[in-house]
This record gives sequence, C-alpha cells and structure tokens, in this order.
Amino acid sequence: MSFAAHIITAYPDMFPGPLGESLQGRALADGLWRMTMHDLRDFGVGKHQNIDDTPAGGGPGMVLRADVAAAAVDHVTAQNPLPVILPSPRGGPFTQSLAQEWAKGDGLIFICNRFEGVDERFIAARQPLEVSLGDYVLGGGEIAAMVMLEAILRLVPGVMGKLESGADESFSPANDGLLEYPQYTRPQSFEGLDIPDVVTGGDHKKLAAWRRAQAEALTQNRRADLWADFLKRKK
Ligand code: SAH
Repeated sequence: MSFAAHIITAYPDMFPGPLGESLQGRALADGLWRMTMHDLRDFGVGKHQNIDDTPAGGGPGMVLRADVAAAAVDHVTAQNPLPVILPSPRGGPFTQSLAQEWAKGDGLIFICNRFEGVDERFIAARQPLEVSLGDYVLGGGEIAAMVMLEAILRLVPGVMGKLESGADESFSPANDGLLEYPQYTRPQSFEGLDIPDVVTGGDHKKLAAWRRAQAEALTQNRRADLWADFLKRKK
C-alpha cells in the first residue's frame, strides 16, 4: 500500500506545489504516495460556510473554529485511521527520526490553518500531534506540511531508490546523529581548489575514516547540541 497524505486546508490549490516536482513528483505519478485534499470550506458553518471567527477575549486575527476543524478531521479519520498532525510553532520539533518513523507508516493527516491559530478546544477534544518546524512563525500550516512531507516522502520505500537510501545522512542514527561529510564532483580543480586526494585516491578505508573525521569536526564546530548528544551516546 502506498503512503497516504491527507491534507485539510482552506487553500487546497497550494498542493501538490513543490511536491509535484522532482523525486516526490515522480513518486506521486508512479503511485508510491497518494495525496488527498480536503477543503476546510466544505465543513464551514452557516450560509457563508464560515470556518473562522474573531478571537474570544479580543486580539488580532482570526481563529479557526473548533467545530469546523473537528468535523473535517472526523470526516477524514472515519475512512482513514491515520495520525493527525497539526503544524504549530508550539509543537515539539520535527526531526529526521520522526520523518523516518512516519515514512514506515501508512500515511498522515495534516490539518493546516492560516490564522492566529485554532480554537484550543479542538486540540483538547481531538488531540492532534502538534509539530513545529522551528522557532519562527510561518503564515500557515500548509508550507510546514509540505516541508514535513518532503522529508518523509524521500524516505518512503521506492521513492529515492536503493543507491541513495538516506540511511547515513545528517541526523540519522546510522550516521550517529552527525552532520554529513563534504561532497565533491567534477571538475577536479575549481578556482584553484582541488578535490582532496583522499576522496579520489581509491583507498576506501582511508576515505571512510576521512569522511567520519570530517563529519565529527563539522558537527563539533557547528552544532554544539548534536555534538553533546553524540558524546553522551558514545559513553
Ligand atoms: N499565533 C500563533 C502563530 C500562528 S501562525 C503563535 O503565536 O504561536 C499561523 C499558523 O501557521 C499556525 O497556526 C501553524 O499552523 C502554522 N505555523 C506557524 N509557524 C509554524 C512553525 N514554526 N511550525 C509549524 N507550523 C507553523
């Protein structure tokens, strides 16, 4: 069975967007994953099919109604018992290990909003998993869902092909959670900079050791947080 991406949004035309291109786009055409859009507007209330309203207690912007969000999620989960993800700056961080875990699953339901947020009672009643891309505020959940899907889909079996398995990339357990080593390609000399001899020398053992040392040095210099985790795990 292919990976099913269900996206609930008031802006279904944003999809597949970039996910219709390159690796993920080919995989979509080949049926390795499926995308089903669900328009929030279809679950709106009243004669104008409203989906949002002003914040109770005052404040800027609009808030997605709990009844509308719940109706949409219930409609999708009734047919598709999949985890429900709510992109949110106050969620736990999205990580490569989450991408790996979700790529092994049957799919996900994303509920996206473009407002001040969603009525807290929707979260209390349906308990979606709130996931954040990082400590900054986007205009809505759609691009966040695309980012997560892009990271997940490239790990779905068949999407990337065996050669580029993604197993030893940055952040992966197979790479000990380190950043990846530097990559080179032709030409051999660029603006006076040569590809290091060890990379093209043909001694695979030496190359592996060099790449490992580079990965460790990069991680130590750039990401004190990842380096500390690595040292802790090594103990
Ligand atoms: N008022 C909210 C921000 C709302 S931004 C606050 O201060 O926390 C509008 C929507 O964009 C959010 O509801 C969420 O769905 C999405 N969004 C914004 N930043 C995000 C982030 N860092 N990660 C994931 N989703 C985000």
